[in-house]
Amino acid sequence: MAGGGSAIRGSRVGAGPMGEAERGQAAPRQTVTYFCAREHRSVVAFSVEAQAPESWDCPKCGLPASMDADNPPPAPKIEPYKTHLAYVKERRSDEEAAEILTEALKLLRSRRKSGDLIF
Ligand SMILES: [Zn+2]
Repeated sequence: MAGGGSAIRGSRVGAGPMGEAERGQAAPRQTVTYFCAREHRSVVAFSVEAQAPESWDCPKCGLPASMDADNPPPAPKIEPYKTHLAYVKERRSDEEAAEILTEALKLLRSRRKSGDLIF
C-alpha cells in the first residue's frame, strides 16, 4: 500500500547511519602499521578518507618502511640526505665554516659597493 511505503522512507531520512556518524564522531581514522629494515614498528594514523601510502619513512630511524612486516624495504646504501650545511660542518670545523660565511658576506658587500648588485 502507498501508506506503508512512505513510512519506510520517513524512517530512513530521520535515522540514517551516515547522518549519525557525521554528527556524533570526529573524523574517523584508520591506523596503519609500517615496518622498517631495522625492525621498528610504527603505527601511523590516517583519515579513513585518505589512501594510506604503501611506504612511510620510519619516524625512529628515517629508513623507508612498508606495511609488509616480512619484507620491509631494504635500507638504502647511500647515506640519508644531508643538508649542505651539515656536509660543510663535517669536513671543516665550525670556525672555518663561519670564516667562509664571513668571506661570502664581504664579497657580497664589496659587490654592492662596486655596483654589481643594485639591491
Ligand atoms: Zn626504523
